[in-house]
Amino acid sequence: MKHDIGCLQAIEAFYAYLDGELDNPESIEEFEHHLGHCRSCFSRIDMEKALNKRLRETAQKESPDDLRDRVSKLLAKF
Ligand SMILES: [Zn+2]
Repeated sequence: MKHDIGCLQAIEAFYAYLDGELDNPESIEEFEHHLGHCRSCFSRIDMEKALNKRLRETAQKESPDDLRDRVSKLLAKF
């Protein structure tokens, strides 16, 4: 049985992921597990998703393609 990382750690993991700093598969799994049952974090991520989309639209040339692809893939799961 997985332990729950809690809201604070889930959000921290999300930002780390956006920065390309979350490369531990177990951390990603714990983060996804938390989002699977926490509505509060799910809404938060949903908001960040919209923000991220806007950022990508306004700063497309500044973001490396591979990072944008990785973020899109992660966000597509939720
Ligand atoms: Zn939460």
